[in-house]
Amino acid sequence: MKAVVLRGAGDVRLEEVPDPVLQAETDAIVRVDAAAICGADLFPLHGLTPGFEYGTILGHEFAGIVTEVGSAVTSVSVGQRVVNMSLVADGTCAACRAGRVTQCSGRALFGYSGVYPRLDGAQADFVRVPHADTVLYPLPDSVSDEAAVFLADNLPTAYDAIVRGEVTRDDLVCVVGLGAVGLMAVMVAHDVGATVFATDGVEQRRGLAASLGAQVFESDEVGEAVSGATDGLGADVVVEAAGTPGALGVALQLARGRGIVSVVGAHFEPDYPLNNALMFERELTLRFSIGDSLAHREHLISMISEGRLDPAAVVTHRMALDDAVEAYRLFDSREATKVVMTP
Ligand SMILES: [Zn+2]
Repeated sequence: MKAVVLRGAGDVRLEEVPDPVLQAETDAIVRVDAAAICGADLFPLHGLTPGFEYGTILGHEFAGIVTEVGSAVTSVSVGQRVVNMSLVADGTCAACRAGRVTQCSGRALFGYSGVYPRLDGAQADFVRVPHADTVLYPLPDSVSDEAAVFLADNLPTAYDAIVRGEVTRDDLVCVVGLGAVGLMAVMVAHDVGATVFATDGVEQRRGLAASLGAQVFESDEVGEAVSGATDGLGADVVVEAAGTPGALGVALQLARGRGIVSVVGAHFEPDYPLNNALMFERELTLRFSIGDSLAHREHLISMISEGRLDPAAVVTHRMALDDAVEAYRLFDSREATKVVMTP
């Protein structure tokens, strides 16, 4: 089959590889009908993911049809249309049983071998899915493949940013970083009824955020805008969805006293010069979330089915898997905000 393989930093290729096979009785094989590129795929592409195992097939967001199941799989069957959760959880360990699925002791991430145990991703014709009963979820006809890929990661992550940011309709929420997760956070905060400010350096992304109900600002304007709208107090909640130390610094400066900075950008830097004086003086809460698809996907599917959320609105590029190398170039250069590929 064809698959997108990361061979080294900056070296992404479309290769012919063996089809995946069942390795455990809890596995399933899925024929991929749509696979997206996530901002998190850029960290190993840039060589910024410590321990990443090159030779891994990339991709942790997909929708498709189950073609094979192991003998112990009971909740999905062959022929069923499904979406995955990006972070694989066993569903049985102490953390999973306590509802902390993102902290599963056996966790893995599709296409992130080395950081977690070896597991190939889904930017391919087929993908092997471990713990299929937990990881896969059947899709209703009301959710298109293009909308479904957001359920794997981006949308539940953004939803977690808003839930763990304790956002209410009376809040002013400022979203820093308008990749797909930031745009989804705008969508969810808008649904809650909050006032949403948003900032990003890329004009196309600001345009998308504005179309989703946010007041948008360039990076050098947002501080003044938040201050002006809040009598100098600051934002009730700041969502950091960029995943850079600089964006985190901006987010901390934008929050009001006793405000919450809800971080869903992926961070891999081990050291960060946290301004403890600012944290103490303003009594800030700083909270990180990986994004819990298992907890939120059922609710999010109803929201999509009811027309309250339309994640596919942020897809800027629809491409064939055959054009994956070009797709990565467009995404890495930020010409593309979200790419969905079709094998
Ligand atoms: Zn577990």
